[in-house]
Amino acid sequence: AALIEMREIVKIYPNGVVANDGVNFSVDRGEIHALVGENGAGKSTLMKILYGMERPTGGEILLDGQPVHFHSSNDAIAAGVGMVHQNFMLVPSFTVAENIVLGQEPLRNGLLDQAEALRVTRELSQQYGLRVEPEAVVDSINVGMRQRVEILKTLYRGAQVLILDEPTAVLTPQETQELFAAVRKLVDQGKTVIFITHKLREVKEISNRVTVMRSGKVMGVVQTEDATRES
Ligand code: ADP
Ligand code: ADP
Repeated sequence: AALIEMREIVKIYPNGVVANDGVNFSVDRGEIHALVGENGAGKSTLMKILYGMERPTGGEILLDGQPVHFHSSNDAIAAGVGMVHQNFMLVPSFTVAENIVLGQEPLRNGLLDQAEALRVTRELSQQYGLRVEPEAVVDSINVGMRQRVEILKTLYRGAQVLILDEPTAVLTPQETQELFAAVRKLVDQGKTVIFITHKLREVKEISNRVTVMRSGKVMGVVQTEDATRES
């Protein structure tokens, strides 16, 4: 059975734009699922509904077979659905470790427990092969590492499903390969990954399945070759 089942999702924005027009979208556990389509196809809207940022006008969402109603992205993350933001909602003057635990800080005598923050950061970093410098100030690190911090932050908050929106847009080819290696490691450890892209080469390289959207509708769902999983 599917882990995520979005059924007949309709989203009409207050200005009358029909961004999703009866979308059926299904993701299995452990899948790397690509969501593709040209600008304006409705991909971001569908994902915003999935991570609780927008309310659907119609349709339903099942998670592990259970209907869910997310009223905020906090509801979604509590249910295990996490968005890896690409506009980098990190605090520039805080360290990597501080950013990762932000919002769910381990405390000691009422203050942030720095040692514990460093420990969980190192542990997650190792577990998922996402290289970061825990004590570096975010302001001083490059975009590739910032993205890894975003992913670790989402994992720290308990994400089982990670949504990545055009994650490679800002990355060098080498950083892209590192990201893909990390994504494979995530699914090897039981996570599920949805990523929005418009680069067909990436779809073939990393995904198991792809959903193609156009004008607010799903045009098709395609199984990508298993050869893509061999490295
Ligand atoms: P994609 O992610 O595939 O580029 P979007 O979901 O961002 O597509 O947009 C789908 C349609 O909904 C577009 O026509 C876009 O202009 C419109 N849209 C997106 N967000 C809003 C919004 N907050 N209010 C009104 N219209 C929106
Ligand atoms: P993106 O454009 O990176 O996909 P979203 O569309 O999800 O970002 O969010 C739009 C805006 O909503 C963000 O720029 C941010 O200001 C705000 N926002 C979304 N999620 C959060 C969050 N978890 N915490 C704080 N602000 C948020």
